[in-house]
Amino acid sequence: MERIDNSYQLRKYYFMLRNGIKEFLYALTHQKIKTKKFPEIINIETSIICNANCVTCPHKSIKRKINMEFETVKKIIDNASKYPVKEIHPFNYGEPFIYPQFIELLRYVRKKMPKTKLIVYSNGAAMTEEQMTTVIKERLLDKINFSLDAASPKTYKLIRGLDYKKTVEKINYFIALKRKYGSNLDISVSFVLTSGNEKELKLFKKYWKGKARLHIALDDGRSGRAFINRFSKMPCKSPFIRMFILTDGRVVCCEHDARGDMILGNINNNSLEEIWNSKEYRNLRMMHNSQNKKRVPLCKNCRARF
Ligand code: SF4
Ligand code: SF4
Repeated sequence: MERIDNSYQLRKYYFMLRNGIKEFLYALTHQKIKTKKFPEIINIETSIICNANCVTCPHKSIKRKINMEFETVKKIIDNASKYPVKEIHPFNYGEPFIYPQFIELLRYVRKKMPKTKLIVYSNGAAMTEEQMTTVIKERLLDKINFSLDAASPKTYKLIRGLDYKKTVEKINYFIALKRKYGSNLDISVSFVLTSGNEKELKLFKKYWKGKARLHIALDDGRSGRAFINRFSKMPCKSPFIRMFILTDGRVVCCEHDARGDMILGNINNNSLEEIWNSKEYRNLRMMHNSQNKKRVPLCKNCRARF
């Protein structure tokens, strides 16, 4: 495994092989995905502001409401709290810690949905000392991943447009707080391997091992799914288990719909249940389960099957 981790090419072939086996098994069974009664995972895009400038991120070109109204957030949580939702992810295209009511939101979810996991992916650079202390002391998160993708200031600047030293200091401070307060928060640091940063993986692992859980992924951060055959007819799970609510209340099926090209509903007009069971959502699932996802413009060329 060590050898695979250290080589972009080897890791790529490993995932291609794994996906090939999955495809083969699917071709034998044509197994359909069952729709959940209610989404298991809900992403709430609280803000589209981000302090980073990642090369691959389209967030700067997104044109919609900047921050979700906190009243809208509450409405979503009140509605979702009637169901056994597994995870709430309070972000989409934007840095979660920048949302002005970020802490308030976490407290609200904890109060209304105590059994639901709160999960955040962050670049780590925007966290304030106060936010970090509150999150740890009040146990407001279950899991946090810091997306780094580099182990040197130069590469980090190139990939994320941020100051490596400052970010690492913040993450270390956060880890120290976790230890100090005996928190069981799951902290991970991620490295999305590309041919441009693979040389730094060894250093990355050496530095973070024992401090945080390591998450090594390929290209789109989805553990090799980027290497799925683009002619694959296998359905994607996302429309069957997930819902993404944009800052303006419109609903999309996954994070790949950055601009909101395929709107499945709007929480300003309908409840989450109504949207989840809407003609639009059902139609999308039917296309996936009937091996027709190529007829869905958004999914046509997507290789990031969830
Ligand atoms: S940190 Fe996330 S939201 Fe911000 S620019 Fe990078 S990928 Fe986009
Ligand atoms: S196939 Fe891709 S675009 Fe379509 S729902 Fe799945 S992840 Fe989203």
